[in-house]
Amino acid sequence: MPFLIAIVGRPNVGKSTLFNRLAGGRPAIVDAVAGVTRDRHYGHSEWNGKQFSVVDTGGYVQGSDDIFEDEIRRQVKIAIDEASLLLFVVDAFEGITPMDEEVADMIRRAKKKTILVANKVDNPDRIAMAAEFYSLGVGEPYCISSINGAGTGELLDEVAKLVPDEEPVVEDPAPRIAIVGRPNVGKSSLINAILGVDKHIVTNIAGTTRDSINTRFKGFGHDMWLIDTAGLRRKTKVHEDLEFYSVMRTIRAIEDCDVCLLMIDAKDGIEAQDLAIFDLAQKNRKGIAILVNKWDLVENKENNTIKEYEERIRERIAPFRDVPILFVSAHTKQRVLKALDVAQEVYENRSRHIATSKLNEVMLDVIAAYEPPSIKGKYVKIKYVQQLHSATPIFAFFCNLPQYVSDSYKRYLENKLREHFNFSGVPITVTMRKK
Ligand code: GDP
Ligand code: GDP
Repeated sequence: MPFLIAIVGRPNVGKSTLFNRLAGGRPAIVDAVAGVTRDRHYGHSEWNGKQFSVVDTGGYVQGSDDIFEDEIRRQVKIAIDEASLLLFVVDAFEGITPMDEEVADMIRRAKKKTILVANKVDNPDRIAMAAEFYSLGVGEPYCISSINGAGTGELLDEVAKLVPDEEPVVEDPAPRIAIVGRPNVGKSSLINAILGVDKHIVTNIAGTTRDSINTRFKGFGHDMWLIDTAGLRRKTKVHEDLEFYSVMRTIRAIEDCDVCLLMIDAKDGIEAQDLAIFDLAQKNRKGIAILVNKWDLVENKENNTIKEYEERIRERIAPFRDVPILFVSAHTKQRVLKALDVAQEVYENRSRHIATSKLNEVMLDVIAAYEPPSIKGKYVKIKYVQQLHSATPIFAFFCNLPQYVSDSYKRYLENKLREHFNFSGVPITVTMRKK
C-alpha cells in the first residue's frame, strides 16, 4: 500500500521547514516556461528501511489572509481523506491558537491516525511550553526543532514504525498502469477512448481508497489494471482545491502502480509540474512512458516534428532519458492502443531478468574496453556482475574496491546495460559490491 504522510497545521508553524527535513533532496523546482521558482511540496523519503511519501499542505495555501482559514480547513479535510498519516504541526513558542483547536477538532472527529508535532522547541527549556498541547486531545506532542533538527530523528523513528512493511507479492499478476498528469491534459479522455473501443471491460470497482477508480481492462491482447487519477473531481464538488487534491491522488496512483503513463499536453510541452511527477515516479522506481496528448492540435507537422519534440523532452528529463515517448490523440484515437502496448512493454522491461552468464558475457567486454579510471592511485578490478532478484532491476558489480568507483563510471555501465538489453522506461540501479 502506498504510504502517504500529510503535514498539516496553520501557517508559520514550520511545516515547510519540517517538510524539507523529511523529504530532503531538491529543494525547489524551477519552472523554466514561466520563469518562476515554485516550492516543491511533495517528495519521497526513506527511514529505517521504510519508504513513504510526504506532502506539505501549506505549500498550497495562497492568497490573502482572510481566505487562509477556509483553505486550511479544506486541505485538512482532503488530507484526512487521502493521507495514511497526518503530522499535525503546532508552534511551541506561540502556544495553542483557535485555529489549532479547530484543526484538532477535525482530526479527532475523523479519528485519523495523527502524530502531534510541537515545533520550534529549539532548546530543552521550551519542552515545558509544549506540554499544553496535550489538551488538544490528539495525543502527546513530539517536541522537535525543524530548524536545528532536534527531535526529528525520534519523530522519524515513530513515523517509520507506522509504515507497514513492503507488501508481499500480490496474487493478481495483471500489470497496474497509472495514467497521471496535470489536470486537463486529457487523462479522462484517454481512458474513455480506451474503454470506448472495447466491450470487454470486466470490472469497474471502487479501489481501496475512496473514489479511486481502478478498471480491469481486458482486450486487444491486454489484461491490465488502469489506475485512473482523473475524472473524480467531476463527481464530487467537495474537492474544490484542485491542485492539492490532484497531487494527493497522483502520489497515491504512482505508489500503487507498476508503470506510469505520464501524460503531457502537446500544446504546452513538458513543464515543471510534469517533471515533478516524472521525478516522483523515478524515485519510486516505477516504469515510465510519456504520452504527448492532443497531437491532433499540432499543425504543420513536418517530417521531423516528432523527432525534435521528442529530443526537447529528453533534454528536460535527463539523465534518465531512456523512456518511451508516444504522440497520441485521445480525440482522434491516434495511437491510443499503442499506448497500452508501450505500457505492457515497459512492464515487461521492468520485470526483465538477465541470466548471469549472458550478463557477464556482455558486460565483462564492456568493462575491458573501458576500465574504471584509477582514483588516488587505486585500481578497481571488476570481477563479475549479477542482477539481483528484486521488483526493479538492480545490478551488482563485484569488485575489489567498490568505494573507488565514480558515479560517472556507474553511468557508463548503466548506459551500456541499456544499450545491450531493453530496459526502456525502467529506472535501474547500478551498485558496487566488495568481492
Ligand atoms: P509553514 O508556513 O508552516 O510552512 O512554516 P515555515 O516552514 O515557512 O516556517 C515559518 C517560520 O518559522 C520561518 O521563519 C521558519 O524559519 C521558522 N521556523 C520553522 N521551524 C522552526 C524551528 O524549529 N525553530 C524556530 N525557531 N523557527 C522555526
Ligand atoms: P484530464 O483533466 O486530464 O482528465 O483531461 P480531460 O480528459 O478532461 O481533457 C481536458 C480537455 O482537453 C477536454 O476539453 C478534452 O476534450 C480535451 N482533450 C483531451 N484529449 C484531447 C485530444 O487528444 N485532442 C484535443 N484536441 N483535445 C483533447
